Amino acid sequence: MKTPELMDKVVALCKRRGFIFPSSEIYGGLNGAWDYGPMGSELKRNVKNAWWKAVVQSRDDMVGLDASILMHPKTWEASGHTANFADMLVDCKNPKCSARLRADKIENGTCPSCKGTSFTESRAFNLMLKTQLGAMEDSSAVCFLRPETAQGIFVNFMNVIDSTHRKLPFGIAQIGKSFRNEITPGNFTFRTREFEQMEIEYFTLPERADACYREWIAARHQWYLDLGIRPENLQLREHGKDELAHYAAGCTDVEYLFPFGWSELEGIANRTDYDLKQHAQFSGKKLIYKDPVTNQEFYPYVIEPSGGCDRGTLAFLVDAYHEEQVNDDTRVVMKFHPSLAPVKVAIFPLLKKNADLVALAKNIKTDLKKEWNCVYDDTGAIGKLYRRQDEIGTPFCVTVDVQSLEDKQVTVRERDTMQQTRVSVENLKIYLREKLA
Ligand code: ATP
Repeated sequence: MKTPELMDKVVALCKRRGFIFPSSEIYGGLNGAWDYGPMGSELKRNVKNAWWKAVVQSRDDMVGLDASILMHPKTWEASGHTANFADMLVDCKNPKCSARLRADKIENGTCPSCKGTSFTESRAFNLMLKTQLGAMEDSSAVCFLRPETAQGIFVNFMNVIDSTHRKLPFGIAQIGKSFRNEITPGNFTFRTREFEQMEIEYFTLPERADACYREWIAARHQWYLDLGIRPENLQLREHGKDELAHYAAGCTDVEYLFPFGWSELEGIANRTDYDLKQHAQFSGKKLIYKDPVTNQEFYPYVIEPSGGCDRGTLAFLVDAYHEEQVNDDTRVVMKFHPSLAPVKVAIFPLLKKNADLVALAKNIKTDLKKEWNCVYDDTGAIGKLYRRQDEIGTPFCVTVDVQSLEDKQVTVRERDTMQQTRVSVENLKIYLREKLA
């Protein structure tokens, strides 16, 4: 199912089950901003943890960073954002419409809102969000909310080298908020004005740059596959020469087949030595690498895998959505990879009036909670409880029944197969640990 209808279903499920809500909804919402609810915040945190584990924790050649959102305005002059980070903007000339549109997104010369065909001249619109620091309201107080996390890494290049004595090749990873005053936010959380990025700057020898670029493309593609995205819904798209920034030696996007078409989740670029040279020039500081053996000084080349956490999370949501016919009913089930599932285990007492049974179920939950995010639920019939957990993608449900009091066993129901297995309370943790690994 890859129809626009699927997107509506995912959006509705996100609201119904507490994944994603419109920002400040009680005031009518804010275009281009969304809030992650109880389930969504767990899912997004799991996506970030999986990324950090793959690109920092499990590698010897990577370190982390957490730079501030506010940076010296000169940063954006050096990076080119002040002069060039703009989209071409036009207004629809139909006075009843006046839609503000991105010139490059207008198809067949027709306004998507009113179908009008007359537009104003296009003009450049800078996407950086401007703000003011301190009490003075003059131009010296102007500051920007960062439009990408990458520059926080470049400006800290020497700090990381000096404090960690890293040798090439090595990379710096960072997760954080970025802001862009997008002209046309939309497609749910795909294009928003506030979003989180997961970015890496990988510094390497110029002659190794192309090989590193290819290694990172493969590694980042594999990451999405390892977390359960169906291979037929992922593709790599290499940019043509005409799409590349003047300094870039290559760029490849990881794209996902959303209901609204193939769209970028992440870009992997070979940025040559452009960024460090720019910051060296604008800051007047030496941002050069000195080889500890040969003492040779040079600017490393940089490979940049730059992904969107919200876009990745949206792809995991869309890919997980399944509808299955079970007897006369339609079962909606989110088939998240276990490591991404917001709740790993749900525990239900079959008879909530039986105090011993409730006590046993609660004890099991207390014990499992030490290891995983678990929920205890006794607010409905078992069918309804399963349905609820299926919709948030909980891999395992544990039911405690009267028999459990005698044989010290519980029923474990697996989300995808709906298979039920009796497992002893004593072995429950080991059983789940194996399955959730
Ligand atoms: P697009 O062409 O879709 O605007 P981009 O090429 O400008 O994206 P980059 O500047 O390469 O994007 O940013 C890196 C990543 O950050 C993107 O692959 C995407 O996942 C994420 N990203 C960028 N802009 C947004 C946005 N407005 N909303 C959500 N995520 C975004």
